[in-house]
Amino acid sequence: MTSSTASVAKQVMQGLGEVRGWQEDFYRDLHAHPELSHQETRTAGNVGDRLREAGCDVHTNVGGTGVVGIAGNGDGPVVLMRADMDALPVREATGLPYASKESATGPDGTEEPVMHACGHDAHVTCLLGAVSLLAGSRDQWRGTAVAVFQPAEEVGDGARTMVDDGLADVVGTVDVALSQHVLPLPSGQVATRSGPTLSAADSMKITVHGRGAHGSMPQASIDPVVLAAMIVVRLQTVISREIQPGEPAVLTVGSLQAGTKSNVIPDQAVIQLNIRSYHEDTRTAILDAIKRIVTAECEASRSPSPPEFELFDQFPLTENDPGVTERVAGAFASYFGDDASELPLQTASEDFSDIPQALGVPYTYWGIGGIDPALYEKAKAAGRVSQDVPVNHSAKFAPQLQPTLDIGTAAMTVAALAWLGQASGT
Ligand code: ZN
Ligand code: ZN
Repeated sequence: MTSSTASVAKQVMQGLGEVRGWQEDFYRDLHAHPELSHQETRTAGNVGDRLREAGCDVHTNVGGTGVVGIAGNGDGPVVLMRADMDALPVREATGLPYASKESATGPDGTEEPVMHACGHDAHVTCLLGAVSLLAGSRDQWRGTAVAVFQPAEEVGDGARTMVDDGLADVVGTVDVALSQHVLPLPSGQVATRSGPTLSAADSMKITVHGRGAHGSMPQASIDPVVLAAMIVVRLQTVISREIQPGEPAVLTVGSLQAGTKSNVIPDQAVIQLNIRSYHEDTRTAILDAIKRIVTAECEASRSPSPPEFELFDQFPLTENDPGVTERVAGAFASYFGDDASELPLQTASEDFSDIPQALGVPYTYWGIGGIDPALYEKAKAAGRVSQDVPVNHSAKFAPQLQPTLDIGTAAMTVAALAWLGQASGT
């Protein structure tokens, strides 16, 4: 960040006091009224209203409940900023005065409690703050600020839904994409990482076929239970024998189901896997190895028909562009000082990168802290961070309202200005 860009950021951030005036109430209201994936209609309505108030062009119903706000400001770089809007089927146990009492009908038709247990309410509120600050200070920068409010991150298909519904036509040519997530780090901190940052996740359902028979007549059967057992054992060699030591990767057999009764040999078995990886070639190698092993074991067992493979609940790899990350990390170091640090490799997954991948633009995705620093330090001193600090998706995940909202708003604004400010020649 050049010193002139740093001074632009300071100028723009002078509007924070005014933004904070509506932001905290907006956040409390959103936290109290969470909505499940693909059901974010109330949230989308409030987001659209706030974007119009900020002076943005607003596009609604992009991929279901998705909303795009555009603050155009002449020729210059186009910066896409993204927040996810959905909540989780979790019963809130934070005890906050604005805790959720909401419930909703889930995808399987049952009534479920709903909670913003992943902090997406903070992401929405911070992005609205950032785009309001930018739209209110157009004399300080040039280009276009695009704010994308995405549905259904938690189920992994909200970003793709927006892309498939023509997001590229709405946003036009984009130069860079930015996103952030509140994490169990001390509130006040921001953390960036270059290269692979969040894992790619794939779930796979494998159906293998045998020939059913009476349990007393194995010679008449092709036993899918034994076949599936051999597959489960052999799959343990994929990570241990085929992936280079030191390369993080996971292959878990989370479910194995076959048969109903002790004396009946069933005619099929179903195996469900979860796979995590941090490089596309590792991911491909794992998927290829699974198919090779399962197919070969089926042949070894004289399986009467080929195995069936179905991939589901897939999240792409989040691999931050080194150049984009360097520029954003530099802007953060300049603005936040010692509160900007490096983010460790995260085991979680995200679908944000589906957007920049589809648009063909580089991106970076960073973390902001949400935990009361005193609570965090106490847990750290006792060596109990993982036990005592509520993590995302926990019923007790309660980001400290401030400075989390201020920092998330500033981080998104400063990162955007690292691109927009550059083009203005200031
Ligand atoms: Zn989540
Ligand atoms: Zn999340």
